[in-house]
Amino acid sequence: MSNKKFERASHVVLTSHSNQIFKESLPIKWGADNAKERGPVIATISEKENRNAIGTHSGSYTVYRALSIANGDFPKDHRPELENTHSPVEVKPQASWFDPEKMVAIDPWGAHIQEMYGDYIKEGYNIKPTIAVTQARLHIPEIFDAIEKGRLEIDGDIIAKDGSVKVTKVAFEPVWYLPGIAKRLGVDEGELRKILFNETGGMFPELVTRPDLKVLLPPIGSTTAYIFGDINNLSNPEVELSCRVHDECNGSDVFGSDICTCRPYLTYGIEHATKTAQNGGVGLIVYYRKEGRALGEVTKFLVYNARKRQEGGDSAATYFKRTECVAGVEDARFQEFMPDILQYFGITKIHNLHSMSNMKYDAITKSGIEVVNRVSIPDDLIPADAQVEMEAKKAAGYFTDGEIKDGNDLDKVVGRELEE
Ligand SMILES: [Zn+2]
Repeated sequence: MSNKKFERASHVVLTSHSNQIFKESLPIKWGADNAKERGPVIATISEKENRNAIGTHSGSYTVYRALSIANGDFPKDHRPELENTHSPVEVKPQASWFDPEKMVAIDPWGAHIQEMYGDYIKEGYNIKPTIAVTQARLHIPEIFDAIEKGRLEIDGDIIAKDGSVKVTKVAFEPVWYLPGIAKRLGVDEGELRKILFNETGGMFPELVTRPDLKVLLPPIGSTTAYIFGDINNLSNPEVELSCRVHDECNGSDVFGSDICTCRPYLTYGIEHATKTAQNGGVGLIVYYRKEGRALGEVTKFLVYNARKRQEGGDSAATYFKRTECVAGVEDARFQEFMPDILQYFGITKIHNLHSMSNMKYDAITKSGIEVVNRVSIPDDLIPADAQVEMEAKKAAGYFTDGEIKDGNDLDKVVGRELEE
Protein backbone atom coordinates (compact mmCIF):
# COMPACT_ATOMS: atom_id res chain seq x y z
CA MET A 1 0.00 0.00 0.00
CA SER A 2 1.37 3.43 -0.96
CA ASN A 3 1.76 6.15 1.64
CA LYS A 4 -0.90 8.16 -0.12
CA LYS A 5 -3.43 5.41 0.32
CA PHE A 6 -2.47 4.90 3.96
CA GLU A 7 -2.91 8.61 4.69
CA ARG A 8 -6.41 8.54 3.30
CA ALA A 9 -7.49 5.47 5.19
CA SER A 10 -5.93 6.57 8.46
CA HIS A 11 -8.42 9.12 9.69
CA VAL A 12 -12.18 9.30 9.53
CA VAL A 13 -14.14 12.44 10.34
CA LEU A 14 -17.62 11.71 11.62
CA THR A 15 -19.99 14.16 9.98
CA SER A 16 -22.55 13.67 12.70
CA HIS A 17 -20.60 15.65 15.32
CA SER A 18 -22.00 19.09 16.10
CA ASN A 19 -18.50 20.61 15.82
CA GLN A 20 -18.88 20.07 12.07
CA ILE A 21 -20.99 23.24 11.93
CA PHE A 22 -18.51 25.73 10.49
CA LYS A 23 -19.03 29.45 10.11
CA GLU A 24 -17.04 29.28 6.84
CA SER A 25 -19.93 27.60 5.07
CA LEU A 26 -22.11 29.91 2.97
CA PRO A 27 -25.87 29.96 3.60
CA ILE A 28 -28.32 28.65 0.97
CA LYS A 29 -31.56 30.59 0.57
CA TRP A 30 -33.57 28.42 -1.82
CA GLY A 31 -35.63 30.41 -4.38
CA ALA A 32 -33.95 33.75 -3.52
CA ASP A 33 -34.26 36.74 -5.88
CA ASN A 34 -30.77 36.34 -7.33
CA ALA A 35 -28.05 33.70 -7.55
CA LYS A 36 -25.69 35.44 -5.13
CA GLU A 37 -28.34 35.70 -2.43
CA ARG A 38 -29.42 32.09 -3.08
CA GLY A 39 -25.82 31.03 -2.50
CA PRO A 40 -23.83 28.22 -4.14
CA VAL A 41 -24.40 24.58 -3.23
CA ILE A 42 -21.06 23.35 -1.86
CA ALA A 43 -20.71 19.62 -1.48
CA THR A 44 -16.95 19.31 -1.75
CA ILE A 45 -15.20 16.66 0.30
CA SER A 46 -11.79 18.37 0.04
CA GLU A 47 -12.66 21.36 2.27
CA LYS A 48 -15.23 20.00 4.67
CA GLU A 49 -15.51 23.34 6.50
CA ASN A 50 -17.10 24.90 3.39
CA ARG A 51 -19.81 22.30 2.94
CA ASN A 52 -23.39 23.51 3.06
CA ALA A 53 -25.03 20.37 1.68
CA ILE A 54 -25.37 16.69 2.59
CA GLY A 55 -23.91 14.06 0.23
CA THR A 56 -21.61 14.83 -2.67
CA HIS A 57 -21.50 15.31 -6.44
CA SER A 58 -22.04 12.96 -9.41
CA GLY A 59 -25.22 11.24 -8.22
CA SER A 60 -24.87 7.46 -8.22
CA TYR A 61 -21.28 7.74 -9.51
CA THR A 62 -20.10 9.22 -6.25
CA VAL A 63 -19.30 5.68 -5.11
CA TYR A 64 -17.01 5.09 -8.13
CA ARG A 65 -15.23 8.36 -7.28
CA ALA A 66 -14.60 6.98 -3.81
CA LEU A 67 -13.18 3.77 -5.34
CA SER A 68 -10.88 5.82 -7.61
CA ILE A 69 -9.57 7.61 -4.53
CA ALA A 70 -9.18 4.30 -2.71
CA ASN A 71 -6.93 2.81 -5.40
CA GLY A 72 -4.86 6.00 -5.66
CA ASP A 73 -5.99 6.99 -9.20
CA PHE A 74 -7.75 10.16 -8.14
CA PRO A 75 -6.17 13.06 -6.24
CA LYS A 76 -8.35 13.69 -3.22
CA ASP A 77 -7.89 17.46 -3.46
CA HIS A 78 -8.73 17.63 -7.17
CA ARG A 79 -10.46 20.80 -8.31
CA PRO A 80 -12.34 20.83 -11.58
CA GLU A 81 -10.65 22.90 -14.31
CA LEU A 82 -13.74 24.61 -15.73
CA GLU A 83 -12.13 26.58 -18.56
CA ASN A 84 -14.00 26.01 -21.87
CA THR A 85 -16.59 23.77 -20.21
CA HIS A 86 -19.39 26.35 -20.48
CA SER A 87 -22.59 25.91 -22.49
CA PRO A 88 -22.45 26.50 -26.27
CA VAL A 89 -25.90 28.18 -26.04
CA GLU A 90 -27.15 30.76 -23.59
CA VAL A 91 -29.46 29.22 -20.99
CA LYS A 92 -31.48 32.14 -19.68
CA PRO A 93 -32.80 32.26 -16.11
CA GLN A 94 -36.58 31.82 -15.94
CA ALA A 95 -39.13 33.15 -13.42
CA SER A 96 -39.34 29.60 -12.02
CA TRP A 97 -35.69 29.83 -10.87
CA PHE A 98 -36.70 32.39 -8.25
CA ASP A 99 -39.62 30.38 -6.90
CA PRO A 100 -38.68 28.13 -3.95
CA GLU A 101 -41.40 25.61 -4.90
CA LYS A 102 -41.12 25.22 -8.69
CA MET A 103 -37.83 23.29 -8.53
CA VAL A 104 -36.87 21.20 -5.52
CA ALA A 105 -35.01 18.26 -7.11
CA ILE A 106 -32.40 20.17 -9.17
CA ASP A 107 -30.33 23.33 -8.62
CA PRO A 108 -31.47 25.96 -11.15
CA TRP A 109 -28.03 27.66 -10.92
CA GLY A 110 -26.18 24.38 -11.53
CA ALA A 111 -25.01 25.38 -15.04
CA HIS A 112 -24.08 28.96 -14.07
CA ILE A 113 -21.44 28.28 -11.43
CA GLN A 114 -18.65 30.25 -13.13
CA GLU A 115 -20.77 33.32 -13.99
CA MET A 116 -22.59 33.53 -10.68
CA TYR A 117 -20.08 32.22 -8.16
CA GLY A 118 -16.74 33.01 -9.87
CA ASP A 119 -15.74 35.30 -6.97
CA TYR A 120 -16.24 32.52 -4.44
CA ILE A 121 -14.23 30.13 -6.63
CA LYS A 122 -11.37 32.68 -6.70
CA GLU A 123 -11.60 32.93 -2.90
CA GLY A 124 -10.96 29.20 -2.77
CA TYR A 125 -14.40 27.66 -2.48
CA ASN A 126 -14.61 24.37 -4.38
CA ILE A 127 -17.93 24.78 -6.22
CA LYS A 128 -18.94 22.33 -8.92
CA PRO A 129 -21.56 22.48 -11.68
CA THR A 130 -24.54 20.12 -11.31
CA ILE A 131 -25.90 20.92 -14.78
CA ALA A 132 -23.98 20.82 -18.08
CA VAL A 133 -25.05 21.77 -21.61
CA THR A 134 -23.56 20.58 -24.91
CA GLN A 135 -24.53 19.85 -28.51
CA ALA A 136 -24.58 16.63 -30.49
CA ARG A 137 -25.91 14.79 -33.54
CA LEU A 138 -28.10 11.73 -33.16
CA HIS A 139 -27.82 8.79 -35.55
CA ILE A 140 -30.96 6.72 -34.99
CA PRO A 141 -32.15 3.84 -37.25
CA GLU A 142 -35.84 4.73 -36.72
CA ILE A 143 -35.12 8.31 -37.88
CA PHE A 144 -33.27 7.05 -40.97
CA ASP A 145 -36.36 4.90 -41.63
CA ALA A 146 -38.68 7.91 -41.21
CA ILE A 147 -36.59 9.83 -43.76
CA GLU A 148 -36.66 6.89 -46.19
CA LYS A 149 -40.45 6.57 -45.88
CA GLY A 150 -40.89 10.33 -46.41
CA ARG A 151 -42.19 11.17 -42.91
CA LEU A 152 -39.15 13.37 -42.25
CA GLU A 153 -37.07 15.43 -44.67
CA ILE A 154 -33.39 16.28 -44.69
CA ASP A 155 -33.35 20.07 -44.41
CA GLY A 156 -29.66 20.65 -43.69
CA ASP A 157 -30.70 22.47 -40.52
CA ILE A 158 -32.40 20.23 -37.94
CA ILE A 159 -31.59 17.07 -39.94
CA ALA A 160 -28.09 17.12 -41.42
CA LYS A 161 -27.27 15.73 -44.89
CA ASP A 162 -26.26 12.35 -43.43
CA GLY A 163 -29.66 11.96 -41.73
CA SER A 164 -28.41 12.79 -38.25
CA VAL A 165 -30.46 15.06 -36.01
CA LYS A 166 -28.88 18.12 -34.39
CA VAL A 167 -29.65 18.55 -30.70
CA THR A 168 -28.69 20.52 -27.65
CA LYS A 169 -28.47 18.27 -24.61
CA VAL A 170 -28.53 19.14 -20.93
CA ALA A 171 -27.44 16.81 -18.13
CA PHE A 172 -28.82 17.27 -14.61
CA GLU A 173 -27.47 15.86 -11.37
CA PRO A 174 -29.97 15.53 -8.54
CA VAL A 175 -29.88 18.30 -5.93
CA TRP A 176 -32.71 18.00 -3.40
CA TYR A 177 -34.01 20.89 -1.33
CA LEU A 178 -35.37 18.77 1.51
CA PRO A 179 -38.12 21.11 2.79
CA GLY A 180 -39.44 21.34 -0.80
CA ILE A 181 -39.17 17.57 -1.38
CA ALA A 182 -41.08 16.94 1.86
CA LYS A 183 -43.77 19.46 0.93
CA ARG A 184 -44.24 17.95 -2.55
CA LEU A 185 -44.65 14.50 -0.98
CA GLY A 186 -46.93 15.83 1.74
CA VAL A 187 -44.76 14.54 4.59
CA ASP A 188 -43.03 16.20 7.52
CA GLU A 189 -39.42 17.17 6.70
CA GLY A 190 -38.05 15.64 9.92
CA GLU A 191 -39.90 12.40 9.26
CA LEU A 192 -38.62 12.32 5.66
CA ARG A 193 -35.02 12.89 6.80
CA LYS A 194 -35.31 10.10 9.38
CA ILE A 195 -36.73 7.64 6.83
CA LEU A 196 -34.07 8.54 4.21
CA PHE A 197 -31.39 7.92 6.84
CA ASN A 198 -32.83 4.65 8.17
CA GLU A 199 -33.84 3.11 4.84
CA THR A 200 -30.43 3.66 3.23
CA GLY A 201 -28.78 1.79 6.08
CA GLY A 202 -27.75 5.06 7.76
CA MET A 203 -25.96 6.52 4.74
CA PHE A 204 -25.92 10.21 5.70
CA PRO A 205 -25.99 10.89 9.47
CA GLU A 206 -26.39 14.64 8.80
CA LEU A 207 -29.92 13.92 7.63
CA VAL A 208 -30.79 13.51 11.29
CA THR A 209 -28.02 15.41 13.09
CA ARG A 210 -27.79 18.54 10.93
CA PRO A 211 -31.28 19.97 10.40
CA ASP A 212 -29.57 23.25 9.44
CA LEU A 213 -28.33 21.60 6.21
CA LYS A 214 -31.35 21.71 3.90
CA VAL A 215 -29.82 20.43 0.66
CA LEU A 216 -29.04 16.77 -0.14
CA LEU A 217 -27.15 15.54 -3.21
CA PRO A 218 -28.59 12.01 -3.27
CA PRO A 219 -26.60 9.13 -4.82
CA ILE A 220 -29.26 8.43 -7.46
CA GLY A 221 -29.42 8.50 -11.27
CA SER A 222 -29.35 11.71 -13.27
CA THR A 223 -31.60 13.15 -16.00
CA THR A 224 -30.83 14.30 -19.55
CA ALA A 225 -32.86 16.68 -21.72
CA TYR A 226 -32.52 16.62 -25.51
CA ILE A 227 -33.70 19.80 -27.25
CA PHE A 228 -34.62 19.89 -30.94
CA GLY A 229 -34.54 23.46 -32.27
CA ASP A 230 -33.89 26.66 -30.31
CA ILE A 231 -33.59 26.08 -26.54
CA ASN A 232 -34.94 29.58 -25.88
CA ASN A 233 -38.22 28.71 -27.61
CA LEU A 234 -39.06 26.23 -24.84
CA SER A 235 -40.29 29.07 -22.60
CA ASN A 236 -42.39 30.71 -25.34
CA PRO A 237 -45.97 29.36 -25.12
CA GLU A 238 -46.65 30.67 -28.62
CA VAL A 239 -44.08 28.27 -30.12
CA GLU A 240 -45.39 24.72 -30.64
CA LEU A 241 -43.69 22.29 -28.24
CA SER A 242 -43.68 18.50 -28.65
CA CYS A 243 -42.36 16.76 -25.56
CA ARG A 244 -41.78 13.25 -24.27
CA VAL A 245 -40.87 12.62 -20.62
CA HIS A 246 -39.29 9.15 -20.75
CA ASP A 247 -38.24 6.89 -17.92
CA GLU A 248 -35.24 4.69 -18.62
CA CYS A 249 -35.84 1.14 -19.84
CA ASN A 250 -32.43 -0.18 -20.79
CA GLY A 251 -33.74 -3.51 -22.14
CA SER A 252 -35.98 -1.83 -24.70
CA ASP A 253 -34.33 1.59 -25.19
CA VAL A 254 -30.89 0.18 -25.96
CA PHE A 255 -31.31 -3.54 -26.64
CA GLY A 256 -34.71 -3.59 -28.39
CA SER A 257 -36.32 -6.11 -26.01
CA ASP A 258 -39.97 -6.47 -27.10
CA ILE A 259 -41.96 -6.98 -23.87
CA CYS A 260 -42.69 -3.25 -23.60
CA THR A 261 -43.18 -0.18 -25.78
CA CYS A 262 -40.37 1.97 -24.38
CA ARG A 263 -38.04 2.28 -27.37
CA PRO A 264 -40.79 2.62 -30.01
CA TYR A 265 -42.46 5.33 -27.89
CA LEU A 266 -39.10 7.07 -27.37
CA THR A 267 -38.14 7.06 -31.07
CA TYR A 268 -41.67 8.12 -32.04
CA GLY A 269 -41.23 11.04 -29.62
CA ILE A 270 -37.85 11.89 -31.20
CA GLU A 271 -39.40 11.78 -34.68
CA HIS A 272 -42.21 14.13 -33.63
CA ALA A 273 -39.79 16.43 -31.73
CA THR A 274 -37.64 16.64 -34.89
CA LYS A 275 -40.63 17.31 -37.13
CA THR A 276 -41.98 20.01 -34.79
CA ALA A 277 -38.57 21.74 -34.80
CA GLN A 278 -38.50 21.58 -38.61
CA ASN A 279 -41.92 23.26 -38.67
CA GLY A 280 -40.62 26.20 -36.62
CA GLY A 281 -41.54 24.72 -33.23
CA VAL A 282 -39.34 23.07 -30.64
CA GLY A 283 -38.97 19.48 -29.43
CA LEU A 284 -37.93 18.14 -26.04
CA ILE A 285 -37.17 14.62 -24.87
CA VAL A 286 -36.37 14.25 -21.18
CA TYR A 287 -34.71 10.98 -20.18
CA TYR A 288 -34.92 10.05 -16.49
CA ARG A 289 -32.72 7.30 -15.06
CA LYS A 290 -35.55 5.53 -13.26
CA GLU A 291 -35.07 1.98 -14.54
CA GLY A 292 -37.95 -0.44 -14.08
CA ARG A 293 -40.31 2.14 -12.57
CA ALA A 294 -37.39 3.09 -10.31
CA LEU A 295 -37.41 -0.39 -8.81
CA GLY A 296 -34.34 -1.51 -10.78
CA GLU A 297 -33.71 -4.19 -13.40
CA VAL A 298 -33.36 -7.13 -11.01
CA THR A 299 -36.87 -6.49 -9.72
CA LYS A 300 -38.09 -5.92 -13.26
CA PHE A 301 -36.75 -9.23 -14.59
CA LEU A 302 -38.20 -11.11 -11.60
CA VAL A 303 -41.57 -9.53 -12.41
CA TYR A 304 -41.29 -10.55 -16.09
CA ASN A 305 -40.77 -14.17 -15.05
CA ALA A 306 -43.59 -14.06 -12.50
CA ARG A 307 -45.90 -12.57 -15.12
CA LYS A 308 -45.10 -15.21 -17.71
CA ARG A 309 -45.20 -18.18 -15.30
CA GLN A 310 -48.47 -17.32 -13.56
CA GLU A 311 -51.56 -19.43 -14.17
CA GLY A 312 -53.10 -18.42 -17.49
CA GLY A 313 -49.85 -16.86 -18.68
CA ASP A 314 -48.88 -13.20 -18.92
CA SER A 315 -52.10 -11.24 -18.90
CA ALA A 316 -53.10 -7.61 -18.97
CA ALA A 317 -55.56 -8.25 -16.13
CA THR A 318 -52.77 -9.03 -13.64
CA TYR A 319 -50.03 -6.77 -15.06
CA PHE A 320 -49.72 -4.31 -12.15
CA LYS A 321 -50.45 -6.89 -9.45
CA ARG A 322 -47.36 -8.99 -10.27
CA THR A 323 -45.07 -5.95 -9.82
CA GLU A 324 -46.60 -5.16 -6.46
CA CYS A 325 -46.22 -8.79 -5.32
CA VAL A 326 -42.49 -8.83 -6.11
CA ALA A 327 -41.48 -5.24 -5.31
CA GLY A 328 -43.95 -4.18 -2.63
CA VAL A 329 -45.13 -1.23 -4.74
CA GLU A 330 -46.34 -0.90 -8.32
CA ASP A 331 -44.20 2.10 -9.06
CA ALA A 332 -41.50 4.16 -7.30
CA ARG A 333 -40.79 6.82 -9.90
CA PHE A 334 -42.29 9.76 -7.98
CA GLN A 335 -43.48 11.76 -10.95
CA GLU A 336 -44.05 14.64 -8.49
CA PHE A 337 -40.44 15.72 -9.12
CA MET A 338 -40.36 15.05 -12.89
CA PRO A 339 -41.72 18.52 -13.92
CA ASP A 340 -38.73 20.27 -12.28
CA ILE A 341 -36.80 19.79 -15.52
CA LEU A 342 -39.66 21.38 -17.51
CA GLN A 343 -39.75 24.27 -15.03
CA TYR A 344 -35.99 24.76 -15.50
CA PHE A 345 -36.60 25.63 -19.16
CA GLY A 346 -39.49 27.96 -18.23
CA ILE A 347 -42.08 25.77 -19.98
CA THR A 348 -45.67 26.93 -19.41
CA LYS A 349 -47.40 25.14 -22.27
CA ILE A 350 -46.88 21.75 -23.94
CA HIS A 351 -48.75 21.49 -27.23
CA ASN A 352 -48.10 17.77 -27.76
CA LEU A 353 -47.30 15.59 -24.75
CA HIS A 354 -46.04 12.14 -25.73
CA SER A 355 -47.14 10.10 -22.74
CA MET A 356 -50.12 7.96 -21.85
CA SER A 357 -49.32 8.04 -18.13
CA ASN A 358 -51.84 9.83 -15.94
CA MET A 359 -49.24 10.13 -13.18
CA LYS A 360 -47.00 12.13 -15.54
CA TYR A 361 -49.89 14.19 -16.92
CA ASP A 362 -51.19 15.02 -13.43
CA ALA A 363 -47.72 15.99 -12.16
CA ILE A 364 -47.12 18.29 -15.16
CA THR A 365 -50.48 20.06 -14.97
CA LYS A 366 -50.24 20.33 -11.17
CA SER A 367 -46.92 22.16 -11.60
CA GLY A 368 -48.79 24.83 -13.57
CA ILE A 369 -47.98 23.71 -17.13
CA GLU A 370 -50.82 23.59 -19.65
CA VAL A 371 -51.06 20.44 -21.81
CA VAL A 372 -52.96 20.84 -25.09
CA ASN A 373 -52.76 17.42 -26.83
CA ARG A 374 -51.83 14.05 -25.38
CA VAL A 375 -50.24 11.75 -27.93
CA SER A 376 -50.48 7.97 -27.52
CA ILE A 377 -48.22 5.55 -29.35
CA PRO A 378 -49.60 4.48 -32.77
CA ASP A 379 -50.84 0.84 -32.71
CA ASP A 380 -48.47 -0.25 -35.49
CA LEU A 381 -45.47 0.66 -33.31
CA ILE A 382 -46.50 -1.65 -30.43
CA PRO A 383 -44.53 -4.95 -30.41
CA ALA A 384 -46.81 -8.04 -30.23
CA ASP A 385 -45.53 -9.13 -26.80
CA ALA A 386 -46.08 -5.60 -25.43
CA GLN A 387 -49.86 -5.73 -25.97
CA VAL A 388 -50.20 -7.01 -22.38
CA GLU A 389 -48.55 -3.88 -20.99
CA MET A 390 -50.47 -1.58 -23.30
CA GLU A 391 -53.94 -2.99 -22.54
CA ALA A 392 -53.22 -3.15 -18.79
CA LYS A 393 -52.15 0.50 -18.77
CA LYS A 394 -55.19 1.62 -20.75
CA ALA A 395 -57.53 -0.30 -18.43
CA ALA A 396 -55.78 1.28 -15.41
CA GLY A 397 -56.64 4.76 -16.68
CA TYR A 398 -53.63 5.64 -18.86
CA PHE A 399 -54.53 8.04 -21.63
CA THR A 400 -55.70 6.63 -24.96
CA ASP A 401 -57.88 7.82 -27.77
CA GLY A 402 -58.56 4.18 -28.67
CA GLU A 403 -60.67 1.37 -27.21
CA ILE A 404 -60.35 0.38 -23.53
CA LYS A 405 -60.73 -3.33 -22.73
CA ASP A 406 -62.15 -4.64 -19.44
CA GLY A 407 -63.11 -7.92 -17.67
CA ASN A 408 -63.00 -10.94 -19.99
CA ASP A 409 -61.52 -8.97 -22.88
CA LEU A 410 -58.60 -7.93 -20.68
CA ASP A 411 -58.02 -11.59 -19.68
CA LYS A 412 -57.72 -12.46 -23.37
CA VAL A 413 -54.71 -10.18 -23.91
CA VAL A 414 -51.86 -12.58 -23.20
CA GLY A 415 -48.18 -12.47 -23.95
CA ARG A 416 -45.62 -14.95 -25.21
CA GLU A 417 -44.60 -17.76 -22.85
CA LEU A 418 -41.21 -17.63 -21.14
CA GLU A 419 -39.18 -20.09 -23.25
CA GLU A 420 -41.06 -19.44 -26.47
ZN1 LIG B 1 -39.70 -0.87 -21.17
